[in-house]
Amino acid sequence: MATPIGNLEDLTGRAVQVLASVDFIAAEDTRHSGRLLQHLGIQKPMVALHDHNERDRARGLLGRIAAGESAALISDAGTPLISDPGYVLVRQARALGLRVVPIPGACALVAALSAAGLPTDRFLFAGFAPAKGGARRGFLKDLARETATLVFYESPHRIREMLQDVAGILGEGREVVVARELTKTFETFYSGTAAELVEAISGDPNASRGEFVVMVRGRESQAADAVGLDVDRMLELLVADLPVKRVAKIVSELTGLPRNELYQKALAFRSDR
Ligand code: SAM
Repeated sequence: MATPIGNLEDLTGRAVQVLASVDFIAAEDTRHSGRLLQHLGIQKPMVALHDHNERDRARGLLGRIAAGESAALISDAGTPLISDPGYVLVRQARALGLRVVPIPGACALVAALSAAGLPTDRFLFAGFAPAKGGARRGFLKDLARETATLVFYESPHRIREMLQDVAGILGEGREVVVARELTKTFETFYSGTAAELVEAISGDPNASRGEFVVMVRGRESQAADAVGLDVDRMLELLVADLPVKRVAKIVSELTGLPRNELYQKALAFRSDR
């Protein structure tokens, strides 16, 4: 079941009832969730269930539930299983025919999308991008042709690098919205082009503190699509043999796309080789 992502008032009445009525609570971090229970005046036995022990613990917990106990699964913040532990437990519970009931509530990606002003009819939640630069750029390249709105989680340590790579791989002109510290005192939405957001976040030390959801408008269908040109593939092949500047000029003439944007993309392809 979902717990708040900042503001404690976001815990639903139903969630409180369930926490108070179950036999035990499986929590990502028992100390962290202990504070929430204390705030609610609820005392319950807790079992730690995190990424490192979920496989080992699941069997014992499911045995207890099969024997008649009831349990609530919570993570440190928001909805479990959404970039959080719980997948193994829920999958195995269903395989055993046990009843699994969602108790909906806060989820950072849904809160962010609901206020960003980007298209929400189709979106792709991609979780956290890889921490290492090369892997992150490869991950973004795989998403470069996606036309649905892209949604990522990001940590404060990597928000700048992530936005730089979004600008480099997906294009400096792509519309980006960054939601920071949702439901908390310093909640802020930054919106603009990828290049503008690199500036905004790099230029203000406070802007790279806290928790972030990064949302990127999906790729617009471009003129190049109409004639079936794969711009990324062209850039990738040409930078293998030609200087980046020349590649940007040729591809810009062929596709009508802005030279500067193609230059940045070609540069990223070159740095990954
Ligand atoms: N299960 C959670 C949910 O439902 O959103 C997400 C857990 S994930 C380990 C933590 C990440 O979610 C953070 O690094 C950040 O990207 C995002 N996040 C969580 N709370 C947030 C908040 N209050 N504001 C912005 N992003 C948040």
